[in-house]
Amino acid sequence: MINVTIWNEYIHEQNDKIVKEIYPKGIHNCIKEYLEKDENFSFKTATLEQEEHGLTKEVLGETDVLLWWGHMAHNKVEDTIVERVQRRVLEGMGLLVLHSGHHSKIFKKMMGTNANIKWAERGEKERVWICNPGHPIAKGLGEYFEIEMSEMYGEPFQVPEPDETVFVSWFEGGEVFRSGICYKRGNGKIFYFRPGHEAYPVYHNKYVQKAISNAIYWLYKGEHAGTWEDNFNSTDNMERKEPIEPIEVKGNQVDHTYQK
Ligand code: ZN
Repeated sequence: MINVTIWNEYIHEQNDKIVKEIYPKGIHNCIKEYLEKDENFSFKTATLEQEEHGLTKEVLGETDVLLWWGHMAHNKVEDTIVERVQRRVLEGMGLLVLHSGHHSKIFKKMMGTNANIKWAERGEKERVWICNPGHPIAKGLGEYFEIEMSEMYGEPFQVPEPDETVFVSWFEGGEVFRSGICYKRGNGKIFYFRPGHEAYPVYHNKYVQKAISNAIYWLYKGEHAGTWEDNFNSTDNMERKEPIEPIEVKGNQVDHTYQK
């Protein structure tokens, strides 16, 4: 059983009439309703408005794969929660960042860059090309798939060079974008998946749904959590006071205490 938590800032669907019509129960529940057909998944959902944004230590501790959808309220996500998510990724939790989540605090923190893009909202057709048909995330998706109406994202996508690029999108207006990219951070895997956008029914597209499902399987480590160095060293001072082998101290020594 893969424990999946779907996080959504859940603002557009409550405040915008058009978005509400496309995703009446929220984007998180739209994704959940499709994925629920797979009995290997169990679900929790969490939203920004909940206490600790619904991402308590308990919830994250039981999460194998976290999906992240945010757009207009990235800055309202508490830094302490972002750090908690980062730690879980380093420990081995999978992170699937969707669409406008490229500017979320957690994605930028994991990337170490601003993750900027070019974009335009004009209902363009998107053709998503599969770069590696043998990759588990591309399973069952053929040579390419299409999304009838998309918000355009264009290069340069200001992220570090990915470990693997699974999808590249072409847009009607001529732009291209690396729309499915893989990273490893600590013991955790990260997959950024571009398709989305609240004003179009992208998460009702069967190919998009299949890619999300494939990505969850790929992100799942197989064993819960995993081990990261932080588990052994909860402080930031990791001096080894006693050498493993007896050794004579040579040279100079300075003060290593971090200033407050
Ligand atoms: Zn969008």
